[in-house]
Amino acid sequence: MVKVNDNYLKLPGSYLFSAIAKKVNAYTAANPDKKIIRLGIGDVTQPIAPALIKALHDAVDEMGSAETFHGYAPDLGYGFLREAIAAGDYEARGCKIEADEIFISDGAKCDCGNIQEIFSEDAVIAVCDPVYPVYVDSNVMAGRTGEYDEKTGKWSRVIYMPCTAENQFVPELPEETPDLIYLCVPNNPTGTTLTRDQLKVWVDYANRTGAVILYDAAYEAYIAEPSVPHSIFEIDGARTCAIEFRSFSKNAGFTGVRLGFTVIPKELVRGGVMLHSLWARRHGTKFNGAPYIVQKAGEAVYSPEGRAQLKEQVAYYMRNAKVIYEGLKEIGCEVYGGVNAPYIWLLVPGGMTSWEFFDCLLNEAGVVGTPGSGFGPSGEGYFRLTAFGTYENTVEAVERMKNMVSLRK
Ligand code: PLP
Repeated sequence: MVKVNDNYLKLPGSYLFSAIAKKVNAYTAANPDKKIIRLGIGDVTQPIAPALIKALHDAVDEMGSAETFHGYAPDLGYGFLREAIAAGDYEARGCKIEADEIFISDGAKCDCGNIQEIFSEDAVIAVCDPVYPVYVDSNVMAGRTGEYDEKTGKWSRVIYMPCTAENQFVPELPEETPDLIYLCVPNNPTGTTLTRDQLKVWVDYANRTGAVILYDAAYEAYIAEPSVPHSIFEIDGARTCAIEFRSFSKNAGFTGVRLGFTVIPKELVRGGVMLHSLWARRHGTKFNGAPYIVQKAGEAVYSPEGRAQLKEQVAYYMRNAKVIYEGLKEIGCEVYGGVNAPYIWLLVPGGMTSWEFFDCLLNEAGVVGTPGSGFGPSGEGYFRLTAFGTYENTVEAVERMKNMVSLRK
């Protein structure tokens, strides 16, 4: 009889968001007349910007005529999009990235989850704690992470780099040297970032040790402070140690449209092999290209109209972030993030656990957030709120939180 990949069986419990959905459904069933405000899942709510919709429509029309029809896209992406990205995201920021170092995909989640395939089975990974769960889970599935300890919430072969208020959410260089270092900047869930100087420490470390940095910049569009780099390739030395992941989900509202890309510089070589070649081989074998119409919409992100409209959209969400951040500060809460990211990270008051606070917020205020413990053991005692709701709902949610007895000191 065939054997299943039993690494999958090692994955603990139900996925964070299904656990949340169950609790919310139970609450709604018991309180059918109460309006719930969801500041939990990191999905956007604003519609796709007009310049992008126009590009989509035009591309759809092209597909309806034999002269302009497009079949399979090139595996690695259309040149028009790769060139727009190279110019708009990299050259404009003084980074040396060529169009053919960019691999177009249908989103950053697949790329961040799949990249581990090009590394050896015994590679040791290091992750910030807390962080986006995909990095650890995809390595669990590949059998790289050892055994799970339910008590500590940790895997035996994963290096956890705690990022908490005690170290200002800046990971420290680990004692044991990892092979792969996942960095998510701005971080999901804490909304915190690294400055150029702080990131330079990691680039130098990776070059010194031979590790590779897997840099997830899905929230790059939200960076407001000039000290925070928009790309790891703004840092000297990154071309020989880093892979960067980008998404169109949070800057252009493409969570349901699907588009992303990965950058692998040709100078990134390990064991005499260009990682660019391995990823090209993998991408070409297992991926058949992002849709033409979506890549055309992606190109419009870099047009003057597209840029202006998306800047407004990011500003809309960041106004929400400010409402949450300042509202919670006003009632004496300890809050982080929210300045360079659409996430607000709250220290749970009164010594409650993250899940206890989740229940409290749902039952007392009808507001849904995300328990910090779902993002790693060091997330316990924290809570994530997102700025992706509508402005009106966000204002109402904050008013409700201000009235919560358990939040008032
Ligand atoms: N990376 C991080 C850190 C995220 O938080 C998310 C989505 O929430 C993604 C990647 C996924 O992006 P995409 O929608 O492009 O797959």
